[in-house]
Amino acid sequence: MGAVSLRARSRVVTFRSRKLLDKAHDAPCRADFEHHCTGWQGCDPAHADSQIFGRGKDFKTPDWAVAHLCHNAHMALDQMEREEGFYAWLRAFVATQNYLYETGKVKVA
Ligand SMILES: [Zn+2]
Repeated sequence: MGAVSLRARSRVVTFRSRKLLDKAHDAPCRADFEHHCTGWQGCDPAHADSQIFGRGKDFKTPDWAVAHLCHNAHMALDQMEREEGFYAWLRAFVATQNYLYETGKVKVA
């Protein structure tokens, strides 16, 4: 997958890949909740904001734990109640993973 870097934070190694994150920029918006979609302008890689995906006090989740969301969906997600936001993100994450694998944007070595 090209320029993949692993950054060590104490004992935790967090997967980082700018190349994988950049796939969001020309991908469709995967938000299934009501919002004014600006996905035609490109999407952002929205990282998981949950402990089970490795979110910690001082660090982001790994770069594979992202959902492709347009700017407005990303902002709307941040305004949701924690559980509602988690499931909205999770649905978008699953749709994002399907997209990445089914279109061959991510390939198994
Ligand atoms: Zn959108």
